[in-house]
Amino acid sequence: MPIQKTDKIWHNGKLINWDDATLHVMSHVVHYGSSVFEGIRCYELPSGPAIFRATEHIQRLVDSAKVYRMEIPFTRDEITKGMLDTVGHNGAWPCYIRPVVFRGYGDAGVNPLNCPVEVYVCNYPWGKYLSGDGEGVDVCVSSWTRLAPNTLPAMAKAGANYMNSQLIKMEAIANGYVEGIALDSNGLVSEGSGENLFIVHRDKLITAPLGNSVLPGITRDSVLQIARDLNIVIAEQPIPREMLYIADEAFFTGTAAEVTPIRSVDKIKVGKGAGIGPITKAIQKEFYAIVRGEKSDRHSWFTPVPVRSKQPVGV
Ligand code: PMP
Repeated sequence: MPIQKTDKIWHNGKLINWDDATLHVMSHVVHYGSSVFEGIRCYELPSGPAIFRATEHIQRLVDSAKVYRMEIPFTRDEITKGMLDTVGHNGAWPCYIRPVVFRGYGDAGVNPLNCPVEVYVCNYPWGKYLSGDGEGVDVCVSSWTRLAPNTLPAMAKAGANYMNSQLIKMEAIANGYVEGIALDSNGLVSEGSGENLFIVHRDKLITAPLGNSVLPGITRDSVLQIARDLNIVIAEQPIPREMLYIADEAFFTGTAAEVTPIRSVDKIKVGKGAGIGPITKAIQKEFYAIVRGEKSDRHSWFTPVPVRSKQPVGV
């Protein structure tokens, strides 16, 4: 989906013009992948725009930076205010928010420590991520393995991790699938190129634990909470590859993918192949009711965006 430009981008505490948010080709990040980032949705509730789980996303950003010894020169509250200011100014909601922190222009060479840490927050309209006909997406198990432990840290949402994601995604597309599922270095199910994965097996909702090289997804956490609310039995347990083929239901979760049912894996139908399964349906229904504001925000997941006008402007 092409980027839809908005008016301003937040850079190191100030709103600057979209077209001025450029960087030098010798910036450290361009050569060595030294960035950490977030992807966050701002939904349109009946009460106005509101950011979904802003606190948890910014915490993960700070955690990712900490792993890479990056000192972010802003507090979590300042970055959150940066998001609110950017969305409030641009008036483009519902939207996707992309805070990114990276090593900028300074030294050449691998050592990043003398390069300035730059912080940007962008927002732009973004619709559905994984195309499907509503009945679920057809996916494959990737020939690419997810990041092995103690190589690139999977718990950090770092730009460099997405080189692995790109390999998974491009291979899936080249072979006619919508998405690829990566196994970890032990051959156990890890996650999609940009989504966590859940399966339902004998009425139990199962997702891989963090030790299987998965990103601690905020949507994953939300779905686990929703499942608890709905009294669905959940387990974070290692998933052997073959469990994908005998699962009754399967779905992806992610900020972009939200809750996307999986129809087939490697051309093997998930379950009976007869539409979306009951547990996936129940979770989807509850998730979308919350993010559309049809159900109360019982877990305080939303941060309202203060806006002057209710009408989106400036896109
Ligand atoms: N895994 C990967 C590799 C991702 O890129 C994403 C998207 N951020 C997820 C899982 C899902 O995380 P979240 O629900 O926080 O968007």
